[in-house]
Amino acid sequence: MSLQTAGIHHITAFARNPQENVDFYAGVLGLRLVKKTINFDAPEVYHLYFGDKAGSPGTIITFFPWPGSRKGEIGGGQVGITAYVVPVGALSFWEERLSGFGIAVKQTERFGEKYLQFDDNEGLHLELVERESGANSEWSFGGIPADKAIKGFGGAVLFSTSSARTVSVLTDVLGLKKVGEEAGYIRLQAEGDIGNIIDVPAKNMDWGVGGAGTVHHIAWRAKDFEEHVQWQTKVAGSGYQPTPVIDRQYFNAIYFREGGGILFEIATDPPGFANDETADQLGQKIMLPSWFEPNRAKIEANLLPIEVRELTPGKRE
Ligand code: ZN
Repeated sequence: MSLQTAGIHHITAFARNPQENVDFYAGVLGLRLVKKTINFDAPEVYHLYFGDKAGSPGTIITFFPWPGSRKGEIGGGQVGITAYVVPVGALSFWEERLSGFGIAVKQTERFGEKYLQFDDNEGLHLELVERESGANSEWSFGGIPADKAIKGFGGAVLFSTSSARTVSVLTDVLGLKKVGEEAGYIRLQAEGDIGNIIDVPAKNMDWGVGGAGTVHHIAWRAKDFEEHVQWQTKVAGSGYQPTPVIDRQYFNAIYFREGGGILFEIATDPPGFANDETADQLGQKIMLPSWFEPNRAKIEANLLPIEVRELTPGKRE
């Protein structure tokens, strides 16, 4: 069976303050809040999804903003850096915009590409890279023009407690190709045009600690429900222990922990975020699965109010 994932479907992380989370990912980064729902296992906590206009696979970062939760430590067994791809020529725009918001940025290079690295308001490591690949954004917010806006994920840097095992699950199970090794990093590529470049530091890393400002899991794309079931068989046949298929309302999911300690999910492209509200109204209303609807008033009363708002970067010092 030669299944190959197209790349990252979504990345899910922990935060604390929901309004600060919305301000950073919508207000500063200009992503669209495509879904406002709750943690199905803890309905007092939001589950917020940010992505491109449609919430396309390969563009979605999701958060559980848990007020008062403890701060995590980024380390082995986690996605260490989440990379976003922007159009060629957009990095200087972003350097100025982020600096205008008082966000410290650092330039670095891997595999001949320039990266602009920074942290979100919780300390989650992010970076921007310019690439031709991926369609330009159709969502414009906060004064970010389409030819500068984030297109989706460029990929991720996976911090592994066993880089050999992580590289092996990526190549042997998920079907990525090893395309380079340089300066302490191994680079792998999936077949999609975004969310497709994965770098793994060759050196094994010490375990991180989960909590606010860390990634909980990374999900890989399955193109449909039929392929998803084949993925489950393949993952189990490769010696991992996938969960049963779970209906996540906007995609079906299976989860398994790979040998380097990172929680992997495989998620279906369908049905997508227009499953329970129209494409132009995405993210406006708190969406609840049917079994929570009878308790909507109580659930909403327990959540801090949030709003998507335009933020203006200040002048550079
Ligand atoms: Zn997930």
